[in-house]
Amino acid sequence: MESYDVLVIGGGLAGLRAAIAAVEANPRINVGLVSKVYPMRSHTVSAEGGAAAVLRPEDSYETHAFDTIKGSDYLADQDVVEAFVREAPIEVIQMEHWGCPWSRDPDGKISARPFGGMTTWRTCFAADKTGFHMLHTVFQTSLKYEQIHRHDEAFVTKLLIEDSRCVGVVALDQRTGRFDAITAKAVILATGGLGRVYAFTTNGNICTGDGMALAYRAGAGLRDMEMVQFHPTGLPFTGILITEAVRGEGGYLTNKNGDRFLKDYVPNKMELGPRDIISRAMVTEFEAGRGFEGPHGKYMHLDVRHLGEDVIDRKLPFMRELGREFVGIDIVHDPIPVRPVQHYMMGGVDAGISGKTEILGLYAAGECANVGLNGGNRLGSNSLSECLVFGAASGRAAAEYASSAKSVTANPVDAMLWDEARRVEAAYLEKTGGDEKIGTIREEMQRDMDAGAGVFRTKEGLEKLTDQLGGLRERFGRIKIEDSSRTFNTELTATMELDFMLEVSQVIVASALARDESRGAHARRDFPERNDDKYLKHTVAFSRGIEDPRPRLEYRDVRITNFKPQPRIY
Ligand SMILES: Cc1cc2nc3c(=O)[nH]c(=O)nc-3n(C[C@H](O)[C@H](O)[C@H](O)COP(=O)(O)OP(=O)(O)OC[C@H]3O[C@@H](n4cnc5c(N)ncnc54)[C@H](O)[C@@H]3O)c2cc1C
Repeated sequence: MESYDVLVIGGGLAGLRAAIAAVEANPRINVGLVSKVYPMRSHTVSAEGGAAAVLRPEDSYETHAFDTIKGSDYLADQDVVEAFVREAPIEVIQMEHWGCPWSRDPDGKISARPFGGMTTWRTCFAADKTGFHMLHTVFQTSLKYEQIHRHDEAFVTKLLIEDSRCVGVVALDQRTGRFDAITAKAVILATGGLGRVYAFTTNGNICTGDGMALAYRAGAGLRDMEMVQFHPTGLPFTGILITEAVRGEGGYLTNKNGDRFLKDYVPNKMELGPRDIISRAMVTEFEAGRGFEGPHGKYMHLDVRHLGEDVIDRKLPFMRELGREFVGIDIVHDPIPVRPVQHYMMGGVDAGISGKTEILGLYAAGECANVGLNGGNRLGSNSLSECLVFGAASGRAAAEYASSAKSVTANPVDAMLWDEARRVEAAYLEKTGGDEKIGTIREEMQRDMDAGAGVFRTKEGLEKLTDQLGGLRERFGRIKIEDSSRTFNTELTATMELDFMLEVSQVIVASALARDESRGAHARRDFPERNDDKYLKHTVAFSRGIEDPRPRLEYRDVRITNFKPQPRIY
C-alpha cells in the first residue's frame, strides 16, 4: 500500500500545478500523482487559444473581474473572481520563469490577443498550441521534485472515506490489472471535464467526468451542473475546436447570405461576444433557414481570408493544419465550416476558494471543480489561468492540512480495498451473460444529451431526457463485458467511465430541470428571462445513493461584492 501526505488525481494543468505547489509549500511532504493516462495526454494538451491575465498598463484587475462576472451572467462568486484576477498574472509570469514559450511582442514582452467577452487584449498565448506548451512546462517542472511520485495509467475507481474524512483512493493499475489502495492525508481531485457525455464535443475521449462522479458518490455536492458551455466554432462531424483566437485575430462569422449576422445579436462585440450568446445566435439563424446545409448538418462560415497568409501562419498555424487535415481546405483561401459544439463544464465539485470541499481532506481544482469563478458562462482563456491559480491554491491548502493531519491507518483501508475490488468484479467483470453493449448505451446517452440538454432546453425535453437516462441506467445493469483480460482492459475502463457519465448526466439534467429561468449557458425556451429574485443562486446537487438516481438539490446565494447584477447586453 502506497501512502502519501498529498495525493493528486489528475496529471493535467491543474493537477501538476497542485503537485508542484504542495511540495513548494512544504518540501518535507511527499506527493503522489495518479493519472489514468500519461500526464502529457491530458486534455489540457489540446488547449489552443490562450490564458487570460492582466499584464498590460491599459488593463486593470477591475475590468478583468467585471468581464468575468458579466460573462458569468452574475452567477460567479465575486470574491473568488477578485482573488483570481490578482493571482493570474503572478501565475503567468511563474510559467514564464519555468520556461513556457509565450508568444512575444516585438519589444520582447509577453504578447496578448483579444478574446470573447474580454474588453481588452489580455489573453497570453503560445501561437495556437497554448495548452501543449503550458502542460509541457508544468510537467517538466514537476520532474525536478523527487518528492512527487507518479502513478501513470492508474485509474481511480473510488475515494476512500473513513469517519467522514477522505483518506485516499482505490486505483486500478491498468498494466497489471491489480487494484491498489493509495492512501493520503489529503486528496486533490483534478480530473478535468465531462464533455464525452455529449456526442458532439471538442473534448478528448478521456473527459468522462470521473472525478465529479467519484466525489458525488462519496457525498460531496456538485454545483451548477446545468451550466454546460457550447463553443460556437467546432468543425462539423469531428467536433474539433477552431479556437476563439481565430475571431480574436479578426475572423468573421457569416451566414449563408454572406451576412455577419452577429450584428443582430451582439452588435457592440460582434465576433468577440461571449460563447453562450454566439452559440444561441447561430442556432437561431439555423432555425430561420440562414445556415449552410452540409452532410453533417447545418453550419456557418468562419472567414479569415482577409487576414492574409502571413498573419495566419504566424498566429494560427495549427488552424491551417486542422483545415487541411480534417476538412480538406486551406483557410488562407477558403472559409471554415463551423457549428456550436459542447466544450467545457462550468459546473463541478463544490469547492471553496482554496479547493476545499465539504469532505474533510478532499480538495478539487481545475475543470472538475466549481470554485465559483465561471458561474453561468466561462469566458474563453479563463480556464487555463483557473487551473494555475486554483491548482496552486489547492496544492498549498492540502499541504498545510496534511502537515498537521493524523496518519491513515492500514486496517479499515485494507477492508475497503477488498470491498471495492469485489464491487468492480461483480458490477463489471463478471457481467458476461448480459445482452447490452456499452458502446450502444454510450451512443444513445450522447445522442439524447445532445437533443435534450443542448444550447436550448425545455421542460418537456428535459423530462424526456430524465426518462431516457433512467432507461439507460437500467440497461447498464445488463451489460455484457467480453474482455476478461487483466492487462490494459480498455473495455473495463470504458465501462467504468460510462458508469460515471450516466451519473453526472443525471445531475446535469435534474439541475437544468429545476432552474426555471435562462442564465448564461442555461437557456430555457419556456423561461427565456433571467430571474434574479429567485435564481441568483447556485444549485448544489447531492446523491441520494444508488437506489434513487434523482439528486437532492439545495440552493446557495451567490456572493456579490462590488458588481450589482445588470442586464447582460453586449
Ligand atoms: C480543445 C480544447 C481547447 C481548449 N482551449 C482552451 C484555451 O485556449 N484556453 C482556456 O483557458 N481553456 C481552454 N480549454 C479548456 C481547458 O483546456 C481545460 O478546462 C483545462 O485544460 C482542464 O485542465 P484540468 O487540469 O482540469 O484537466 P485535464 O487536462 O482534462 O486533465 C485531467 C486529468 O485527470 C486524469 N483523470 C481523469 N479521470 C481519472 C481517473 N478516474 N483516474 C485517474 N486519473 C484520472 C486524467 O488522466 C488527466 O490527467 C480548452 C479545452 C478544449 C477541450
